[in-house]
Amino acid sequence: MSEQDHHHVDRDEEATFSINRRRFLQGSSGALLAAGALGPAFAHAAASGEGSARSGGRQASNGQTFDFGNGATAPEGISSVPASATGRPMPTLDQYDPVAPDERLGWAVVGLGDFALNQILPAFANSTHSRLAGLVSGNADKARQIAQQYGVAESGIYSYDNFDEISDNDDIDIVYIILPNALHEEFTVRGAQAGKHVLCEKPMAPTVEACQRMIEACRDNDRKLMIAYREQFEPHNLAAIKAIREGMVGDVNLLSVNAGVSLDPEAPSAQWRLNKALAGGGSLYDIGIYALNASRYLLGEEPTQVFARIHSREDDPRFAQVEDNVAFQLIFPNGAVANCTSSYSTPKNNEASVFGTKAWLRMAPLSNYYNHWLIVDDGNQRIEPSIQEISQFAAEMDHLSRCVQDDTAPHASGEEGMQDVRIIRAIYESAATGEMVSIESDYERDPNLLIADSPNLPDVWQQSDS
Ligand code: NAD
Repeated sequence: MSEQDHHHVDRDEEATFSINRRRFLQGSSGALLAAGALGPAFAHAAASGEGSARSGGRQASNGQTFDFGNGATAPEGISSVPASATGRPMPTLDQYDPVAPDERLGWAVVGLGDFALNQILPAFANSTHSRLAGLVSGNADKARQIAQQYGVAESGIYSYDNFDEISDNDDIDIVYIILPNALHEEFTVRGAQAGKHVLCEKPMAPTVEACQRMIEACRDNDRKLMIAYREQFEPHNLAAIKAIREGMVGDVNLLSVNAGVSLDPEAPSAQWRLNKALAGGGSLYDIGIYALNASRYLLGEEPTQVFARIHSREDDPRFAQVEDNVAFQLIFPNGAVANCTSSYSTPKNNEASVFGTKAWLRMAPLSNYYNHWLIVDDGNQRIEPSIQEISQFAAEMDHLSRCVQDDTAPHASGEEGMQDVRIIRAIYESAATGEMVSIESDYERDPNLLIADSPNLPDVWQQSDS
């Protein structure tokens, strides 16, 4: 029996029905392109097959097949199993143990647009702690049709006008606000006043003052507030954070983080995005926020200063009210500098490069819905781990459901969302004045928070230079 099979059988024997958070993220045996200065740990993990194959073979390393049945004695350390079909212990699970359907928290999705329908509603199928129980829409026919498709009761359908009546619906615990940015505040406040916990899409709101009111409304009503930073639950991003915290790239000096998309003015979802009153601003609020937020969580620090330039072509009618291209530079307390860009005029792209004294790390894409990519390179050797994709949408919803059930604070709090809005306002100020702007804030977050509660980060990252 190979080393790998020993591991597998031992894990089966140890498995229990308690919460099992192992192997949420996996390094795989095919992950290794090269390993050396970046870490023998990579070579070891790949060679041993840790975190990869789960199907237990029954072959010894010399090719002999063990017969565990009919009273045959199993080799030392291996328990015997009968040859006939039999029950076995609970296997290890790749994600959180699901709770029973009636123990999952009921969610109402507020706003049935592009993102809600294409990403969020289907993600409930991957959820372990959340279930769709309500829909809020200004289009009754659409809401009824979707309710039918997803099995939502007629009593779970609300309009924007009668939304407050959701307070009488005990089947709904959490409301998820997926409306144009400037409407986030109103529906977060109304949701909290109706006694519901709130997940609100990014950007939290157009102004810091609006964010403050949202935080206060949730606090006053003793409700949890989380901002939907889905990439803070995405495995490649978590693996990158862990690698950086563990020193794999050394001291980080520079980051380059970019976010761009080509905004089609004919698309229904572009209408409000090009309207300053509804969007708050342009590409910066919509997608530049990914570059900003990633710079902060990758470094685990808060910037103290920002310098920015904004440029929109005057002959492009899309940008009569909101900005197109933004280049901004964030200065962090440890001296690191992040160069970030945001644009509505490039083919879709989002990427981050982190340059440290020992290696550089690159994610491209950084914040797609699917198909992420991560490499680390020390100038001589490159590793490209294979990391299992999960539904980051289900992961973030389940995180809030668990926070409500366990009465713990969400990782991506209202204060986290407000910090991005505060920095966005400073970016506009710098672009308007041509001056470096200081960011006045005492917000801080434990740099290890996002990875502390993430099950099964890959062994492959544990040592960078042993
Ligand atoms: P969308 O235009 O497709 O959907 C907006 C929804 O709001 C529609 O159902 C629309 O009917 C409704 N609505 C209510 N009042 C409206 C009004 N006055 N004007 C326009 N629409 C109104 O937009 P979307 O792309 O789904 O974005 C919605 C929110 O989700 C935004 O805050 C956006 O930033 C966020 N979003 C997040 C992600 C992510 O990856 N986290 C991705 C896309 C969008």
